[in-house]
Parts: sequence; structure tokens; C-alpha cells
Amino acid sequence: MAHTARRWYLAKHANTEIQPDTFEFREEPIPDLEAGELLVRTIYLSLDATNRVWISTWDQYMDPVNPGEPMRGFVCGEVIESRNPAFQAGEIVAGMHSWSDYFVTDGTSFSVFPELPGVDLSEAFGTLAIAGPTAHVGLLEVGQAKSGDTVVVSAAAGAVGMLVGQIARLKGCHTIGIAGGADKCARLTEQFGYDAAIDYRREDVGQRLKALAPEGIDLLFENVGGDILDAGLAAMKNFGRVVICGLISTYNQSGEPVPGPYMFRNVIMRRLTIKGFVILDYVDELPGVVQELAGWMLEGKLRFRVHVVDGLEQAVDALKLLYTGGNHGKLMVKIGEERR
Ligand code: NDP
Repeated sequence: MAHTARRWYLAKHANTEIQPDTFEFREEPIPDLEAGELLVRTIYLSLDATNRVWISTWDQYMDPVNPGEPMRGFVCGEVIESRNPAFQAGEIVAGMHSWSDYFVTDGTSFSVFPELPGVDLSEAFGTLAIAGPTAHVGLLEVGQAKSGDTVVVSAAAGAVGMLVGQIARLKGCHTIGIAGGADKCARLTEQFGYDAAIDYRREDVGQRLKALAPEGIDLLFENVGGDILDAGLAAMKNFGRVVICGLISTYNQSGEPVPGPYMFRNVIMRRLTIKGFVILDYVDELPGVVQELAGWMLEGKLRFRVHVVDGLEQAVDALKLLYTGGNHGKLMVKIGEERR
């Protein structure tokens, strides 16, 4: 059994791009378990856009990670030893902990991860831990998507976006995805069930939205912000809904005020409803949501793409991919083997 754990710590808050001295890698002894604790061997670490928010000095929806603290993330791993009656050695568990290869927890935020026959753990974890619930709750509960709606999704080829498009389609919506680059746009229509794709790197998003949704957008699922949000706001239908899921284009600029949307006046001109949400507020709904998502996966109704980077040492460099569009699917780091 391992006697030391390797772990990333935050060394400095970062309000612009992540710098070489933002994080520090340490090796430290694994403590003996106290009553109620378990030792977990990490298999996958989920890298999420919000990781960047946590290490900034922004006023945010939960405590930031402060210098000197282990970097936080969503993980899944195998229980190696347990002194907590809710968990048994050998079980696969998922929850929020640190960027490390082994960790001790009292089990808070952890649950046994469902086994989906025929579905890889990386795919199941990538879908069911954060991205799937965010897509499901954001689209159906916050956005109230209904059959016949024209739904527009930004960062549509990413973890959340690829699922929003597929769920919207399952519900009978007309779907338009916005993504960067020809490969990602091809994937939107060929694999993720979008009716149409807009390549924001090559095309005028505003003009394309007018052409593809001449009657206007019923539901804008916003993941990016900035010019893309503006183009969406300009193309809304009267009484349309805007779900603010994320504003990733602003996360590297947290040291300065970010300009608000230029087309904010359409909130009144088009009588829009804008709602922001954070998936962590929906814990009570999660069991039902996860069950529905897992069912769709097992029936082959949801396709998912993971982008797996090997090795805990690579976690910081991998995180940067999210803010350049370098990830092609749900970004995660493989830290340990699925089975020993
Ligand atoms: P993705 O897998 O979608 O990866 C991020 C993608 O964002 C990149 O691949 C890139 O796609 C796009 N992007 C990054 N920077 C820019 C930019 N400046 N302009 C345009 N596009 C950009 O990540 P996630 O699925 O994890 O996250 C997507 C969004 O969902 C984020 O905004 C995140 O904060 C939000 N989120 C919100 C949650 C909530 O509870 N509200 C929970 C989870 C995620 P491309 O190559 O197409 O540009």
C-alpha cells in the first residue's frame, strides 16, 4: 500500500492566466485513518471551468481555494481502506476533494458511484458527476425547455454543451450549437444531434443566428458570455429565456471589471427572463436526474466524448486547455488505473 500521497496545492491566487508559480506539487505522508474516515485511491480527476473561478479573488458562489490549501476538484476513485460504515473497501466512490492520487476523507460529499454495464468509468463519471446534471437541470428545470423550442447553446461541443444539445433534441427542440473550429462543428451535427452548427471563429454569429433561427431563439443556454452572449441576446424571441450556465470567456479576466452585455437592452425590448444557476444548489434533485441520464446512456441515447490527460503531474497544464478550446470533450485527468 502507498505510504505517501502526491497533491497539488494553490500557491497564489490567479486573476489572469495561470502562471508557473500558481500551483505547487507536494508529496506527503498518508495519515492513519481515524474512526469515520476512508482512504481513496483516485482514478479520475474532473477538470471543470469553475476550477479557474475557485482560484481567483472573485466574490463567488462558494469559498475560494486559498493559497496554501490543496487544490479542490471532483474526483472518483477506489476505496482502499474504510473506517466509515457507509463505505466498503473496493467500492468506487465520487465526490469533491483534492487534486491528489490518494486522499483521506470523512466521506462528506462522497457517494458510491453507480456501475453502468457496458459504459466506461471515464464516460460515466464525466457524464454523471457534473456535466450531465448541469445540462439536464439547466435546460429542463431552469430553462423550462419544451418541444418545438429553438434552443441555442454556446461552447456546444464541450462537456455540458454536447449534452444540452442531445437532451434538447430528445425533448423535441430545434437545436443550434456554437463552437470553435470545423472539427467541433462537424461533431455537433454528426455526433451530438444538433440541427445546425455555427463556427464562431470563422463566422459572424449574429448573422448566422438570424439565418438559422429567423423566428428568433426561445431558449439561449449560455456557457461563454462576451460577444457570443451579445449575439444571442440580439436574436431572442419576445418572452424568450436565457439560462446563464457559465461565462467562460471572462474567467481569465477576474482581476478587472468585465464589460456587461451590450445587448442588455433586449431584456426589456424582448421581455426576456434571464436566470443563472449553480448545479450544487440542486442536490435534492440529483438522484432522479442521474437516474434519467444513466437510463439514456444505457439505452444508447446519449453520446459522450471524453478528453483524458494522463498523470496527476499534467493537471495544471491540462486545466488551461479549457480556456483556449484545446479540449475535445469532457476534460479529465487519469490518475490511477480503473482496476488494480
Ligand atoms: P467545456 O468542455 O465546454 O470546455 C470549455 C469550452 O469553452 C472550450 O473547449 C471552448 O470551446 C469554450 N471556450 C473557452 N474560452 C472561450 C472563449 N473565450 N470564447 C468562446 N468559447 C470559449 O467545459 P465545461 O462543459 O466544463 O463548461 C462549460 C461551461 O459550463 C462553463 O462556462 C462552465 O463554467 C459552465 N458550468 C456551469 C455549471 C453550473 O453549475 N452553472 C457547472 C458546470 C459547468 P470552443 O473550442 O468551442 O471555443
